[in-house]
Amino acid sequence: MCGIVGIFGHPEAAKLSYLGLYALQHRGQESAGIVSAEGPTLTRRGGMGHVADVFSRDVIEELPGPIAIGHVRYSTSGDSNPANAQPFLLRHHRGPIAVAHNGNLVDASIIRGDLEADGAIFQTTTDTEVLLHLVARSQVPDVVDAIVEAVRQVRGAYSLLFLVPGRLIAVRDPLGFRPLSLGRVDGAWVVASESCAFDLLGAEKIRDIERGEVVVIDVGGVHSFKPLPASRPAPCAFEHVYFSRPDSTIFGQSVQAVRKRLGAALYREHPADVDLIVPVPDSGTYAGLGYAAASKIPFEMGLVRNHYVGRTFIEPSQQIRNFGVRVKLNPVRETLSGRRIALIDDSLVRGTTSQKIVQMCRDAGAKEVHLRISCPPTIGPCYYGIDTPRRDELIATTKSTEGIRRFVGADSLGYLSLEGMMAAIGGNPDEYCTACWTDRHPVPLPLEGEGQLKLFEKTRR
Ligand code: AMP
Repeated sequence: MCGIVGIFGHPEAAKLSYLGLYALQHRGQESAGIVSAEGPTLTRRGGMGHVADVFSRDVIEELPGPIAIGHVRYSTSGDSNPANAQPFLLRHHRGPIAVAHNGNLVDASIIRGDLEADGAIFQTTTDTEVLLHLVARSQVPDVVDAIVEAVRQVRGAYSLLFLVPGRLIAVRDPLGFRPLSLGRVDGAWVVASESCAFDLLGAEKIRDIERGEVVVIDVGGVHSFKPLPASRPAPCAFEHVYFSRPDSTIFGQSVQAVRKRLGAALYREHPADVDLIVPVPDSGTYAGLGYAAASKIPFEMGLVRNHYVGRTFIEPSQQIRNFGVRVKLNPVRETLSGRRIALIDDSLVRGTTSQKIVQMCRDAGAKEVHLRISCPPTIGPCYYGIDTPRRDELIATTKSTEGIRRFVGADSLGYLSLEGMMAAIGGNPDEYCTACWTDRHPVPLPLEGEGQLKLFEKTRR
């Protein structure tokens, strides 16, 4: 998963990109980068870590020009290392080009294999670099046509920003897996993964970039066209359940409002006779509020989250019970002691975190712990950019709900149904990607050879 932002036509484009990345930090904490354009020159700065670690005032000053794109990365394809930090910037026969990608291409390794066999040299282990090779290989003179040619050859999830001298190009895949929106600030254009980035910039959201749409922004304004083959829509429902920020509006809906509706629906499907509703912060907070409002049972922050946990910490040599989870979450004994609680979380994936949290609540004196999950059991891995574990690590693929209840040690366990979840999101399951819960993938992984053949034809043209 990743967050992307682009600015066109602002004297402080890099600074605005930096602020946008700040607002999108939840979408990726491994690396951050910005490429800016001044005239024919593109400049890149980036590195491993959070936006605030990578960019100082001095570094931003080194990124001149009125156009910029930025990226925060959370790796799903390719290792977590400096070479894989985006945006990528390289020079090809049309001049310099930079790209920032949110999503995951399902056939990238096949295409890459063919390109390598044909002599291409790759510098990273990401799926995104494949796109740049395809753009570079295209013989059409204009870079926008080359980008269209390139994305027509790949399948999967892509919300993309390309930067070339004088132009910012935004592309969203025909199924629209990942969000991408267009906004305006001070006469400049902004493109960002989520609307929370517009809010921080004081920008006005104009509209979502449509699925299958290519938007080219230059001094003449915004040009939109739809050169990609039409397809069913498949925006990711998990963006609403967990991934996006609650103060964003994505796919035409307020994330916070959706999450509260998920919580209310969860109560209707799985009421609990308890004294308190306790969310797992931050992921379960809004579903918890919805559950509490529907049940009229008091809502309490019985678990408090430490927001300052870095990527690594030094563990004590003497084992502390539940240390890994306790660093992030601390139960409030005064709130939980002697109470029957409904513990609300957004999703249960491996079950290991939930098990520790249930135990922590019991250790803090909770009399009964009833776990409620605001989406269905997770049974399908994601091929489109969410970092879910392998299928056999998903607890719901090997255990029944009763088996999971016993594993996590809860007094009862209730999952929201697929129908309940989709009604709360306000869409029908055929118009969203629900692969996490149905294991039905709108873009299947390619069969051996299928992608190869396509590219073989292309490169031998
Ligand atoms: P577990 O009980 O170990 O399955 O962990 C469940 C917790 O992981 C929930 O609080 C979720 O919000 C969180 N979660 C779900 N999906 C992801 C993901 N792709 N990356 C990180 N955390 C996740």
